[in-house]
Amino acid sequence: MMRIWTNARLRIIALAILGSIFGSLGGFWLGRAILLRTANAALSVYAQELNRSSDILSEETNSIFVKMNASTIPVCSNQDLAELQAQIFRSVHIKDIGRTHDGKLYCSAILGRLAHPYFEGKPSLVLDSGANVYTHVPVLIDAKGGGNATIVEAGDVDVVLNSNAFGDWDRPNIDYMLVAFNRELGQVTQIAGSTLEIGPAWVLSQDSQIFRGTIYRKICSASHSVCAVTAERLPDVWRSSISTQIAYSAMGGFAGLSFALVLSLLYWRASGLGYQLLRAVRKNSSSLQLVYQPILDVGTGRCIGAEALLRWKDHNGASIPPDVFIPIAEERGFINEVTAFVVRHATNDLAQLMRNSESFTLSINIAASDLGDERLVEQLRDQVHLAGIHPGQIALELTERSTADLTFVRDAIQRLKTVGYKVHIDDFGIGFSSLSYIDQLSVNAIKIDQAFTRTIGTDAMIAPILSQMVEMASSLGLEIVVEGVETEAQRNYLAASDKNLRAQGWYYSRPLTAEALRLFESQNKATQDSVMSQNECKPAPPECLPGLDSTSKARASDRSDVRHESGPVIGALTSTPSPANL
Ligand code: C2E
Ligand code: CA
Ligand code: CA
Repeated sequence: MMRIWTNARLRIIALAILGSIFGSLGGFWLGRAILLRTANAALSVYAQELNRSSDILSEETNSIFVKMNASTIPVCSNQDLAELQAQIFRSVHIKDIGRTHDGKLYCSAILGRLAHPYFEGKPSLVLDSGANVYTHVPVLIDAKGGGNATIVEAGDVDVVLNSNAFGDWDRPNIDYMLVAFNRELGQVTQIAGSTLEIGPAWVLSQDSQIFRGTIYRKICSASHSVCAVTAERLPDVWRSSISTQIAYSAMGGFAGLSFALVLSLLYWRASGLGYQLLRAVRKNSSSLQLVYQPILDVGTGRCIGAEALLRWKDHNGASIPPDVFIPIAEERGFINEVTAFVVRHATNDLAQLMRNSESFTLSINIAASDLGDERLVEQLRDQVHLAGIHPGQIALELTERSTADLTFVRDAIQRLKTVGYKVHIDDFGIGFSSLSYIDQLSVNAIKIDQAFTRTIGTDAMIAPILSQMVEMASSLGLEIVVEGVETEAQRNYLAASDKNLRAQGWYYSRPLTAEALRLFESQNKATQDSVMSQNECKPAPPECLPGLDSTSKARASDRSDVRHESGPVIGALTSTPSPANL
């Protein structure tokens, strides 16, 4: 028991530790997942803001393209250059506007008329609208040199985008990239922002991704062929809220611990004896077996019945004594199911024996809560009918301690007796009730507890009580069964009584399997018949005398086919009483 408890405690502790660890990890990852979602949402907002700025820029360039391409002023004339300059002054994001033709730049608002046309080279991308995009173009107007810009050209006009077009767009730890694309051609090119590791082509296939320790989010403009990509490195994301991660880890740890404890509790319940027993009863499991202990008439040695006793092995194959599992079933409230199991199996097991021997009584132990249980009454009726026996062959044993509520118990006993069942008071003498109290219950018999049987032949203080109980019970007309008869001396003491006693105990037989009981009963009957016939031989010739105990005992102990729980089976087979006791 101690070992089971220690193992269970260790299991609970291990489960609690594991639960806390996995819970904390789970909470930690949940915290991170929440931070990721928050970061993703923030990146989306930033990408939308970028798109709004790029839409404004696109609108601006488009209106310049429309206006300047439609201009009737001679290109690169002073008036034309003045007009181009006027456009630039109105724009925040455009650095220069030029007049182009066949891939060459002839003049611009800032450069004026070029002495030699400038070759624009091959566009990086041709947009769906037909406009050309040139990226990383060395800017001629940058006096210091070294600057690159993005140029967009439509018709015979190009505009140089201000490399600081999104300069005021600055978020801590967030990088961005604006790309222009031609979906039909599957081409993409970066037009602003930093060159991100994920590459511009990614925008055509994905919306969001974690790539090499950075989270990326893309949103495309609804009206222009431009997408904004925003990015944040994961370490920056985690750093943004360490407290969130700690809080979620702690919550996860707590949840894991609680979960583990609930699981332990369920496991404890599931593996507990009560749960196992209930399952065994409901599944009609072979781990539950009935054995039968014969009850004999002390005077005649005749087997007059047997008590059904339940045996159970738990899932480890360990035998659990009924003194342990019956109270569990009572406490857990399913003793009625145990009783139903016993009634069903016992009446089936012994049906034939009881049909053949109509005076044979099957004793079944019932619990206090079985009393007045209509289901038991119905089941007994059905089983008695099925077995083809009469109700008087069933004795219900009720312990003395279950008889506290006199009125209720008396009524319940009365109902059972009306149908014809016998009712016996078990373990009599060790409880509080007196014989006069028991008499009011109008039961058929009392079973005197083995504690009193043990006092026979001893000088124990309570030794005289047994004979007093026998005396009084007999005067009340109650049948008497003496339990726990283990020795020949005890049997002889009882046999010397002038009262009609019954007895049960190892001296006569250990509890037997149903098959062994049948054999026991038939041999007992044969012995009884032979005694009867010998007694009819008058005057008794030597061969008619009853067989001597010692010879019969030796014969019976040789029988290996008598199966029993353990210890001797013998007594009753050979307990040929002395004529004086008959
Ligand atoms: P009980 O009804 O008083 O059953 C008699 C007990 O005494 C049995 O123990 C039996 O094996 C034991 N016994 C019989 N002869 C001797 C003997 O000569 N010496 C000694 N020392 N013991 C003897 P068991 O089978 O362990 O049952 C213990 C108790 O468990 C029973 O006491 C009964 O109260 C309860 N029980 C057993 N089976 C059932 C059952 O099917 N239903 C209910 N409700 N209770 C049961
Ligand atoms: Ca009993
Ligand atoms: Ca008893």
